Amino acid sequence: MSDKLIEDLDILGKPYQVVLVDPTFEEGTYGQCDDANGTLKIRRGQKDLLELDTVLHEMTHAIDFAMALRLKERQVAAYAAGLVCVLKANPHLLDYIWEKLNAESDDGN
Ligand SMILES: [Zn+2]
Repeated sequence: MSDKLIEDLDILGKPYQVVLVDPTFEEGTYGQCDDANGTLKIRRGQKDLLELDTVLHEMTHAIDFAMALRLKERQVAAYAAGLVCVLKANPHLLDYIWEKLNAESDDGN
């Protein structure tokens, strides 16, 4: 059984559906990036910050796949966890990012 978690994502032009799944993964696994089917599977029942970490982690795998970066699992895990920590410690950063993204679309830069 799965539920849609958030809106579909466009990751470098490829559509991905983000779904919650029951914890049928192996021990210690919280998500899975299924590039072939365009699905990011997120383990149901995680605490909010861990779920966010998992979504960012699986998004990073999708970017890695699209750009053939060949990141190691440890690099993906550290990037996602680091990003969650920085965003949590600096909540105003999200406003800045949103402002810059919108400004860019307004003036064509
Ligand atoms: Zn991973």
